[in-house]
Amino acid sequence: MKDTLKHKGLRKQLLATLVTKGITNAAVLEAIGDIPRHLFMDSSFLDHAYQDKAFPIAASQTISQPYTVAFQSELLEVKSGDKILEIGTGSGYQTAVLCLLGAHVYSIERQLDLFKKTSKFLPKIGYVAKRLVFGDGYKGLKDEAPFDSIIVTAGAPFVPKPLLSQLKIGGRLVIPVGDEDQIMTLYIRKGPKEFEKHELGNFKFVPLLENKN
Ligand code: SAH
Repeated sequence: MKDTLKHKGLRKQLLATLVTKGITNAAVLEAIGDIPRHLFMDSSFLDHAYQDKAFPIAASQTISQPYTVAFQSELLEVKSGDKILEIGTGSGYQTAVLCLLGAHVYSIERQLDLFKKTSKFLPKIGYVAKRLVFGDGYKGLKDEAPFDSIIVTAGAPFVPKPLLSQLKIGGRLVIPVGDEDQIMTLYIRKGPKEFEKHELGNFKFVPLLENKN
């Protein structure tokens, strides 16, 4: 599968849609304009890759809607060299956006088949995360903490405490919180025990699941 002029043209249209919906961060838009999203999806969905919609990937999971990826990425305020933890690697699309923004990305996935598939695929198309981990995102990644920011890409029924405690002072946690629908929530760590909380609108994600083991 290749990236063609047709795909590039469709990505330009997608960028225009994202701008209409309120995305302003130039680096985020540039990353989405660069990344061949169609390569992250099963071939039967090729024609849909540049619509602003979520789509099924393996293991009953979804690749997030481009608007959602852009919205969450903007909230992280990524600076080059930031150490970022992602919960829910999935297709690796959000991981690729963070890599292009210059972050050092650590990403956790709990579905073994997705973890294996994405671990092979991402470096093959040139996006190299610092570490892809098969494990439980509720626990975060203690041995690599603290992080400049943490992004959760599945709907969390509550805010896992380890994620708050693995943030640097000044660090940001972007997490959709709720069961059926979620409220996008941004926590900024102001001190060892102080967090500023912002609620930023409704979204719908697949659930952040507790580990089977
Ligand atoms: N960022 C992904 C979104 C995938 S959907 C993308 O751009 O494609 C959410 C992902 O979170 C799924 O792959 C799901 O398996 C994973 N997930 C759910 N619960 C998890 C947990 N407790 N720990 C790690 N990953 C989890």
